[in-house]
Amino acid sequence: MSNVIIQATDVTKTFMISGGFFQGKRPLHAVNGVDLTVNQGDVVALVGESGCGKTTLARMILGLEPLTSGSVEVDSKPLSGQNRLDVAKLLQPIFQDPYSSLNPRKSIGSIITLPLKVQGDQNPDTWRRRAEEMMELVGLPRRVFQNYPSQLSGGQRQRVAIARALINRPRVVICDEPTSALDVSVQSQILNLLQDLRSELNLTYVIISHNLAVVEHIATKVAVMYLGRIVEEADTETLFTKPQHPYTEALLSSVLTPDPNLDVPDTHLGAAYPNPVEPPSGCTFHPRCAKVMDHCSTRSPKAIPTSEGSVECHLYDKAQGAAA
Ligand code: SF4
Repeated sequence: MSNVIIQATDVTKTFMISGGFFQGKRPLHAVNGVDLTVNQGDVVALVGESGCGKTTLARMILGLEPLTSGSVEVDSKPLSGQNRLDVAKLLQPIFQDPYSSLNPRKSIGSIITLPLKVQGDQNPDTWRRRAEEMMELVGLPRRVFQNYPSQLSGGQRQRVAIARALINRPRVVICDEPTSALDVSVQSQILNLLQDLRSELNLTYVIISHNLAVVEHIATKVAVMYLGRIVEEADTETLFTKPQHPYTEALLSSVLTPDPNLDVPDTHLGAAYPNPVEPPSGCTFHPRCAKVMDHCSTRSPKAIPTSEGSVECHLYDKAQGAAA
């Protein structure tokens, strides 16, 4: 039996962006032909700078953003043909900011039990029992059931968001920067909670993060994105100890910046992140690449399988006659 829970194949998302008053709309390829396989039990991290397409890819996997082309299968069934409520039973999001993702006018109890009601559970007696079970699991005291989000700390609010996401026992949770809006002192508590819940509830995570320390701590597999493409994919230990793509090497060097929460600003790459509406020719990373070769600006590299995943760079493309 296949262990694959999410299969994204050749997924593309193109937005039409206004080019200005005198210009027509222009395409922005936010995600550009991405393949991603997530196995049951994986913790897959999507990393890269702002605008690389990681959040758009996650939103397409969640069914929140229609695909321009390609396909996403969840549990071996095409996402496009599935009912929203059925998808929500399998996949749940946890967003970055627990302040804005919780309705301030609803009590904690009604926020956590809402997914039960949406999924058609008609029995109010079970709502409170299941909510309290979930609150205990995520480390929230029962006494906050009647409280409102404004009465809780940031860490407690994120625990509410986690309880709400898990109350219908999904198989996959998509976490968008789950700790970056929290105080540093609370971040590790939430990360440890996510780790504990993963083993207790047999969860699979897709985690979007620009914080490489978080990724190294929690992920089993990492996909590095650049301008809408996955340029390197490997298991976490291999990626952090033997990065292959020059962009991954530059990202890892940014771990040593004083504040790892910053959006990988100090990648030592020289040139700025390109305008995605006008991506560079050939390998889109070539203007910033320390290992650029003559043909990099004219030929797009293809994904090359490695023992641990894949890398998209001419350095590893034997057909180009470059060093392997
Ligand atoms: Fe650098 Fe060329 Fe590899 Fe692109 S293809 S990452 S420019 S070496």
